[in-house]
Amino acid sequence: MAKKSISDIEVAGQKVLMRVDFNVPLDSSGAITDDRRIRGAVPSIRSVIDRGGKLILCSHLGNPKGGDDHAACSLRPAAERLAELLEQPVAFAADTVGEDAVQKVSELADGGVVLLENLRFNPGEKAGDAEFSRKLAGFADIYCNDAFGTCHRKHASMVGVPAAMEGKPRVVGFLVQKEVQYLSDAIASPQRPFVAILGGKKVSDKIKVIENLLGICDKVLIGGAMAYTFALATDGKVGNSMVEPDRVELAKQLIAAGGDKLVLPLDTHCGDDFSGDCNKQVVPAGQIPDGYEGFDVGPETAKLYASMVADAGTVVWNGPMGVFEMSPFDEGTRAVAQAIADSSATSIIGGGDSAAAIQQLGFADQVTHVSTGGGASLAMLEGEVFAAVELLDEA
Ligand code: AMP
Repeated sequence: MAKKSISDIEVAGQKVLMRVDFNVPLDSSGAITDDRRIRGAVPSIRSVIDRGGKLILCSHLGNPKGGDDHAACSLRPAAERLAELLEQPVAFAADTVGEDAVQKVSELADGGVVLLENLRFNPGEKAGDAEFSRKLAGFADIYCNDAFGTCHRKHASMVGVPAAMEGKPRVVGFLVQKEVQYLSDAIASPQRPFVAILGGKKVSDKIKVIENLLGICDKVLIGGAMAYTFALATDGKVGNSMVEPDRVELAKQLIAAGGDKLVLPLDTHCGDDFSGDCNKQVVPAGQIPDGYEGFDVGPETAKLYASMVADAGTVVWNGPMGVFEMSPFDEGTRAVAQAIADSSATSIIGGGDSAAAIQQLGFADQVTHVSTGGGASLAMLEGEVFAAVELLDEA
């Protein structure tokens, strides 16, 4: 269901509390090493300040436990970087709901911005504490969620705050709007054939995704190390490959439930050592020799998967086909990425490693949507309904 967005409401002279994802990597000197998350939030930020709203930004950074962590997880560098990007001052409150925050919020002029200190410095954030939520909610007239990476969490700033602001406008920012549009709406009413490609290390991480997508897709193509657990389930030989013996029963159940919707690799590119210059062989799936381990799907599988992608109306991809970080075992992942880039299907790339792979291979501009959220995008593909989004106003 489409949600009302920040551009749908009047903000002039209003205080807008915007939950953003400024969880940026910092080096040991506290300098930001990748500011993409801050830059990503700028369109929603601009939408408020360019129309004369008073903007209160809040975010978490890292997972502070206390002590020295606090210094290492301060959002102050993010406020400085944002000020450079906006070419205007950004006030920084040294606490979240304390005296400094109250004062800096009260000093906000129309078009002004304040960033509150790391929400997770307050234990109430992760606990979803009602009192902490009420204090944050008390700052603003409008709530905006533009933090997709945290949307699967029930933390105070994600759920408690919008709940406490019932009756006031509660909207999504542009980042969350786009993620919901593709990861939820496009999947709920896909152009068919709808093909999902699932890879990565472990079946155990992807069980719910496989189950959910088997229910709605026309084909679910399996790659990555998790294919070897499926190979064990069909009495295949997997050599030294990464497997989860305790998931073999589950793999059998998924094979039975999936029928011909579930497509397993035809062949495997394997090697005798975890290195790009090991001895290599391409073997039929389930026939990996002793002393070898599978590192990638083989060329026949890559060809088959590429042809299925070419015929698709919607493609969802989560997880690499092999050890894409180590050439030549990036070939299967590259072939799938190339096929997705070449296809005219609506193509949705899950966050985390598949997003990294599509960027690394240079195809990111040729797909419909690359998700920014790892855990959140996986949870959406699992069919999870996010309270943090459900609570917000319908368009
Ligand atoms: P995930 O986090 O589950 O999406 O898994 C991504 C990781 O799986 C990447 O770092 C890949 O290198 C790794 N991976 C994929 N296929 C294999 C494989 N056949 N053997 C070992 N690691 C793999």
